[in-house]
Amino acid sequence: MQKGKKIWMDGKLVDWDDANVHILTHTLHYGMGVFEGIRCYICGDGRSAVFRLDEHIDRLYDSAHIVQIDIPFSKDEIKGAVFETLKANELREGYIRPIVYLGAGSMGLFPKENKVMVSIAAWEWGAYLGEEGIKNGIRVKVSSFTRHHVNVGMTKAKVVGNYVNSILAKREVVKAGYDEAIMLDTEGYISEGSGENIFIVKEGVLKTTPLTSILNGITRNSVIRLAQANGYEIQEERFTRDELYTADEAFFTGTAAEITPIREVDDRKIGDGKLGPVTKTIQDIFFKVVKGDGSAYKDWLAYI
Ligand SMILES: *Cc1c(COP(=O)(O)O)cnc(C)c1O
Repeated sequence: MQKGKKIWMDGKLVDWDDANVHILTHTLHYGMGVFEGIRCYICGDGRSAVFRLDEHIDRLYDSAHIVQIDIPFSKDEIKGAVFETLKANELREGYIRPIVYLGAGSMGLFPKENKVMVSIAAWEWGAYLGEEGIKNGIRVKVSSFTRHHVNVGMTKAKVVGNYVNSILAKREVVKAGYDEAIMLDTEGYISEGSGENIFIVKEGVLKTTPLTSILNGITRNSVIRLAQANGYEIQEERFTRDELYTADEAFFTGTAAEITPIREVDDRKIGDGKLGPVTKTIQDIFFKVVKGDGSAYKDWLAYI
């Protein structure tokens, strides 16, 4: 990981190497915390912009609301802190990670006096699933680990503890030689990747999992809106693994993964086994928009 200079912690910028927490930090023991993943890009005009910052901060507060954590800062303060962090790190393109967690205080499963802490780090982070993956597609496998049931893990919230499930799935398939995991929901339908939403393309129509039991991805939402504006039909419907096997194209979406084509699932080629034309079109539109080249979407960019 590319080390930065400063990390914002509870209102102050702290040197990267001193950004530590107490060993009895409650979230470290039980996973009750929420986070976000945000990207900023250098735009065509040389400026730098955070992509859909408002939506990411809204989701951070929604995640906190779901798990009953009161964030002790206003949304505007957090947005200001994101900019402060980027400037302090002289970072013009990269990844931003706000986290809200419960500090040290009481132990046990009924945290009362534990202070709610907020931290924001930012660093350079290239393609999460590799440059090669973005260009030519990745090989994925359906994990034996099931995505959280909607009444077990709160699937709409980016809750720290939820990601044990994702790590188990990802580790399992990476050890078996694949790049990323696909997880089925508790009824056996495709849900999403370990940290990405999924789309398939069949005869020019795009299909993606409905929001019921998945994380409401902001990249997913962006792709839906951009695809519709460019004349594609979108279906938000459940689909099965055999429908995925026989799709013409498939791709993952996520802030980290951006738009990563899937060229193979469970050792079955998807379509021609390479970046397909619809995925390529969506990728091109998406990367233009995040870099400020798409006048209809200027409100998605928060310039630094
Ligand atoms: C964060 C995340 C995504 C992607 O959401 P974006 O808002 O596009 O970054 C998808 N699935 C899971 C489980 C996630 O944690």
